[in-house]
Amino acid sequence: MLHTGEPLRVLLVEDSRDDADLIEMALERGGFAPNVRRVETAAEMLEALDSVWDVVLSDFNLPMFSAAMALDTLRASGKDLPFIILSGAVQAEDAVSLLKRGAHDFLNKDSLARLIPAIERERREAGERVQRRRAEERVRILSMAVEQSPVSVVITDQGGTIQYVNPKFQDATGYTFMEAVGQPLDFTATQDTGAETFSAMWADAKAGAEWHGEFCNRRRDGSQFWEHVTVSPLTNPEGGITNFIAIKEDITVRRSYEERLLRQANFDDLTGLPNRVLMLDRLDQAIAVAKRTGMLSALLCIDLDRFKDINDSLGHEAGDRILKVVGERLGGCVREGDSLARMGGDEFVIILPGIEDGESARMVAERVVEIMSHPMDVEGQDYFITASIGITLYPNDGTDRQVLLKNADLAMYKAKELGRNRYGFFTAEFNRRLQERLALEGQLRGAAVRQELLLHYQPIVNLKTGQPVGVEALLRWQPPGEKLRMPGDFIPIAEEVGLICGLGQWVVETACSELKGMLRNGIVLGRVAVNVSPRQLREEGFGRMVKHMLSVNGLTPEHLELEITESVLMDDTSVTSANLQMLCDLGIRLSIDDFGTGYSSLGYLQRYPFSTLKIDRSFVSVAPDNRGAGRLVETMITMAHGLGLEVIAEGVETEEQAEFLRARNCDQVQGFLFGRPKPLTDVAGKLLVAV
Ligand code: C2E
Ligand code: MG
Ligand code: MG
Repeated sequence: MLHTGEPLRVLLVEDSRDDADLIEMALERGGFAPNVRRVETAAEMLEALDSVWDVVLSDFNLPMFSAAMALDTLRASGKDLPFIILSGAVQAEDAVSLLKRGAHDFLNKDSLARLIPAIERERREAGERVQRRRAEERVRILSMAVEQSPVSVVITDQGGTIQYVNPKFQDATGYTFMEAVGQPLDFTATQDTGAETFSAMWADAKAGAEWHGEFCNRRRDGSQFWEHVTVSPLTNPEGGITNFIAIKEDITVRRSYEERLLRQANFDDLTGLPNRVLMLDRLDQAIAVAKRTGMLSALLCIDLDRFKDINDSLGHEAGDRILKVVGERLGGCVREGDSLARMGGDEFVIILPGIEDGESARMVAERVVEIMSHPMDVEGQDYFITASIGITLYPNDGTDRQVLLKNADLAMYKAKELGRNRYGFFTAEFNRRLQERLALEGQLRGAAVRQELLLHYQPIVNLKTGQPVGVEALLRWQPPGEKLRMPGDFIPIAEEVGLICGLGQWVVETACSELKGMLRNGIVLGRVAVNVSPRQLREEGFGRMVKHMLSVNGLTPEHLELEITESVLMDDTSVTSANLQMLCDLGIRLSIDDFGTGYSSLGYLQRYPFSTLKIDRSFVSVAPDNRGAGRLVETMITMAHGLGLEVIAEGVETEEQAEFLRARNCDQVQGFLFGRPKPLTDVAGKLLVAV
């Protein structure tokens, strides 16, 4: 082979310049472009070895150096260079001993023809030696990495049988190298890993893809731990799979943390029951079950009665203990497959998936009521804690969880309204009324602003003289295009949702200004009686508002009478008292309306300076025929007179009733017999005396 001009860096250990020239010429002839450095001593050689060389050519014996010493020098430098000895006649033993010490070849100076092939060969072998050493080093590092790896490494054959495990694997599993080798890759994995995990792993790995997953393993001592596993196929240069390598990392800590988080996210800390999140999930499942099977599912909303009082009086710790006991007791009311959850606070939920009819839900609700009827021991004291339960059924009462929950809640509130410690089903009728009420509430808001409100007035007549003494203002609502609405339809709702104060103010305002208008036209109406709801009296500033209305309309207190229902008498709040006192002080007449329908006794009337008592229509209408009612009306009149009150009988419809009342000294009457409630102009025109 001719190396036309291939550079060759030669370190030449030679004392003879002539020999050096000859060698250089031989190299050039062989096609090399040699770069030769000649050295004669160990020091020179050592220094020269700092540079890069392709080959060392060395004379056998020099005056101050030798091939043997040159070999030592080379070895000391740590370099691995082809070392070829060129010499004259040499003893065979010497040559052998030098070859043994690391020389690569031995050539005769006189036949340099072998020099070129020798260099070529040595250079090639040196290259291979470097590569081999690098490969060996790589393997050494790799195997060190595997051996000292902080994660478990398992190598199997093509069939998945373990051939190697690293020390970490042995630590992690407790199985020794010898015990592990020959076993299948997943021999430590337990059933908890899941059959589908194994099949997915082998499918991926055998298809030549990398697989990641989680194994639940059992150690040699039986304890369990979780690992994240990566299985990769190892392939030969042709692409065939020769082995599998599995890298496994212990994730028990992470898993238990995740499990804890999962628990926290889904379960209630105090009772250990599923929380709202999990409950919603179970409710969805129950809906799905009912859908699939054509059966029903029930949702029971359970709310403890007056739990807030218990919490406030006994403290939160005791409250927590009670909630725990309640959770346990409720647990005894459900069967397997049913769900019990704590929604938060004192609210629990039971879900019954796939039931035949409402009867099963009723039975569970009854069991809950029963089980709660037993006293609960808190710090040595017995407490009775009851619950109110609202029940909805899927699909009858709602087809999604939001509606079911909302309706169960409403049914629960209804149960509370009816006296607590009971259960109630949500019914379509209930729903219809509710919808109507909601619609009504919306309509009622702003009715005053839209001028849909008006007042009708009913005369109040002196029974002895037959002369009108005043009128009662009665509220009417005329939504556009609808029939006139009577107060019974909307006053209770207005009271419930807090609209009554606005309406009430409108009534006082309107009654005062209409009365002023009449007076201006010279029409004397007597007094105007206005109905006041207990809620209005609980508003601070009510008294001031009335006073203001009188003064802006130029009216005196005698022009106004306020009718207050009996329930106010039991209402002892300071605001109510202050309002009533202020109205009395102003000189406004107060009457007690619908007397006899509430629970107050005549004795209550002394609390405030009432001037009039109105006997409710229900007594008046039957008084002449019913002895009991008749006696009662008689007593009311006598007692009221004894207390210095005037008496008005309401709802007088017949002459007979009027006669009955006259005979018993009733002062005034009101009723259809004397005039129906009408717009002010009608009333004024017909009945009242113009001055
Ligand atoms: P109330 O104050 O006892 O008013 C008397 C009610 O009896 C009126 O009903 C009146 O129309 C009715 N009535 C009068 N005479 C007869 C009769 O001979 N036969 C029959 N069957 N009924 C008679 P209305 O107007 O429907 O009012 C009902 C109730 O609504 C009132 O009872 C009062 O408690 C309340 N109310 C009316 N207007 C207002 C108001 O402006 N504010 C408040 N808070 N409540 C009002
Ligand atoms: Mg009234
Ligand atoms: Mg009344």
